[in-house]
Amino acid sequence: MVEERALAKLGGDAFCSSVVAEESTLEKFDGDAFRSSIVVEKHALATSDGDAFRSSIVAKKQALAKFDGDAFRSLTAVEEHALAIFDGDAFHFLAMAKEHALATSDGVMFHSSIVAEECALTTSDGDAFRSSVVIEKRALVTSDDECRTNPTTALLPNPSSTSSSRRSPTAPLFSFLVLITCLAVAAAFAFAFLFFTSSSSASARHSSISDPKIPPSSQQPPLARPLAKLPRPVVILISSDGFRFGYQYKTATPNIHRLIANGTEAATGLIPVFPTLTFPNHYSIVTGLYPPYHGIINNHFVDPVSGDVFSMNSHEPKWWLGEPLWETAVNQGFNAATYFWPGSEVKKGSWTCPPRFCQKYDGSVPFERRVDTVLSYFDLPSSEIPVLMTLYFEDPDHQGHEVGPDDPEITAAVARIDQMIGRLIAGLEKRGIFEDVTIILLGDHGMVGNCDQKLIFLDHLSPWIHISPDWIQSTTPVLAIRPPPDVSPSDVVAKMNAGLTSGKVEHGNYLKMFLKEDLPTRLHYSASYRIPPIIGLVEEGYKIELKRSKRNECGGSHGYDNAFFSMRTIFISHGPQFERGRKVPSFENVEIYNVIASILNLKGAPNNGSASFPSTILLSNA
Ligand SMILES: [Zn+2]
Repeated sequence: MVEERALAKLGGDAFCSSVVAEESTLEKFDGDAFRSSIVVEKHALATSDGDAFRSSIVAKKQALAKFDGDAFRSLTAVEEHALAIFDGDAFHFLAMAKEHALATSDGVMFHSSIVAEECALTTSDGDAFRSSVVIEKRALVTSDDECRTNPTTALLPNPSSTSSSRRSPTAPLFSFLVLITCLAVAAAFAFAFLFFTSSSSASARHSSISDPKIPPSSQQPPLARPLAKLPRPVVILISSDGFRFGYQYKTATPNIHRLIANGTEAATGLIPVFPTLTFPNHYSIVTGLYPPYHGIINNHFVDPVSGDVFSMNSHEPKWWLGEPLWETAVNQGFNAATYFWPGSEVKKGSWTCPPRFCQKYDGSVPFERRVDTVLSYFDLPSSEIPVLMTLYFEDPDHQGHEVGPDDPEITAAVARIDQMIGRLIAGLEKRGIFEDVTIILLGDHGMVGNCDQKLIFLDHLSPWIHISPDWIQSTTPVLAIRPPPDVSPSDVVAKMNAGLTSGKVEHGNYLKMFLKEDLPTRLHYSASYRIPPIIGLVEEGYKIELKRSKRNECGGSHGYDNAFFSMRTIFISHGPQFERGRKVPSFENVEIYNVIASILNLKGAPNNGSASFPSTILLSNA
C-alpha cells in the first residue's frame, strides 16, 4: 500500500503527530486557526522564532531528515524553479487559489486544491499543470470531486484522492501522505530537470510570461453605462504601494472584492515596468512611458552629465520627462487633483501643483483624511470637480520591506487598505455617484521575501576585478555600475561574469552582468544616458552587497526583473466603461495612461502604450 510505504519511509512518530495535528485542524477547519497556523509557521521558519510552533517545526525537521533528504527539504527552492519551468502564471495561480480556499474556510475545497496540485505535480508538465489549475479553479467553486475528471488522475495510484468528500476519518492523513510522496517525487524530478537544464532555465525564466487562456465571451459585450448624476466621467486612480498580486486573498477584503465582482480585473495581475521600483513605476502609470523615456530610471540616481543627484524629494521639472495625466487633463481645460503621487509636485507645463488640488507629500497624513479629502472634491460645483484624482497609500509596501510578504502584518495592512476602499465607496454612495465614478485600484509592484540569506557579495569577485564602491550607482536588486572613463565597461562585464560563473563565488550563478544595450529588449532599459552602462540582473529574492555585514537580512524587497510573478501587482477597475465581472489577461502598466485618457475623452500625449489597448478593456460608449 502506498500509504504504508510512505509511513515506513517517513518513520518518526514525531512527523506523524505533526501531520495528524495539521490534518486535525483541516478536519475541524477552523479557518482562522488554520490561517494563523500557516502564517505563524512560516514566520517561525523564517525567523527561528515563535514558541508556539517551534516544537512542531523541530519535529518536522527531524522527520524530514529521515525522509527524503535534500530534495524534500529544498522543496521551496524547487517550487521556485518549477515556477520558471512550469510557467509562473500557472503556478502562482495555484497559490492564489489555495489562499482563496483558505480565505473561504472551506476544508473540503482546500483538500481539493491540494489534490489538484498533486495531480499536476505528478505530471511535471507545463501544459498539464495549466490544465489542472483550470480544473482546480472549477473544484474550488463547485465541489472537491473535480479531480476525478482530470485525465492526470490516472497517474495517481490512490483512489481516496478522488473522494475526499466521503473520506473516512483517516482519509485526510492518508491523502496528506500521498501528497508528501508525490511532492517528493516531483521534487526529485524537478531537481533532475534542473540539473540537466540549468543553463537554459535562466533564459526560459526571462522569457515572456504567458497568461492562462481567458475564454472568449460568447456574446457581444454590453455598452458603457450612461452617467446618472455627474456631468462628465471622473477617474479616481488609487495606488496601494507594494500590493503584490494575491494579497487580495490573504484575508477577507469585501470592499476590494465588491469592485472585482462588479468591475474588470487583470486576472493574473498588472505587470510593472523594470526596474520594479516605486518611482519608476508610478511615473510609468501616469505617463504611459517606460523609465528611459520618462527619465525616472531608479528611485535614486546620478545624472552623469551634470553630476546632479535625483532622489525621491527631487521636484525639479528637468528630471521628470513626458506628460503625466494631470497635465494632460489641465491642458485640455479640466481640473485634476493629486493626493500624493510621485511626480505630482513637479510644476510642468500647465500643471502648477495648485494647493487646492495638489497635496505635498506627507506620509503622516492618516489614510482616512486622504480618502475624505478626495470625497470632498465631489462637493464642489460640478464644473470644478477634478476629472482625475489620485490617491496614494504607502501600505502594504511599508510592512513588506520590514517583514516580507508572508507576515501577519501584511494581512493587517491589506485589511486596512480594504477598509479605506470601503470608506471611499461609502462616501461615493452617500453622494449617489458610486456608479458614475471610475475607480482604478492598482499597485506599483509586488514583493518577495529575502529571509534566506540569499546574498551575493561583490568583494568575492576581487580575484577577477576590484569593483570600487565609487562606481556603483545602486546595488540591489538592480546592480548599476558606471566605471570611470578610462575603464572599459565591456571589460568590467566580462571579468565580473567570469567570476560569477566560476563556481567559486557564493551564489554567483544567480547574478548576471550586462552592458545595458545587451539587456533583454523586453526590459526597455537602455535608451537613456541616465542609465549606467553596466546593469546586473539578479534572480528572484537574491540581494547584492559590497561585502558581508552583520545586518539582519530578513525582510522583503522588490525591484527585480518584471517577469517574476512576485513582482506583479493588482489592477482592479470599476466604473461605467468597465464590464462587470470581467477578467482580462495581464498587461503592462504603461497601457494605463491611454485607458484613463480614453475614459476621460482626453487627447493623450505620445507614449509607449498601445493605441488600441483601451478598446480591448473598455466598454464602448453608445
Ligand atoms: Zn512601491
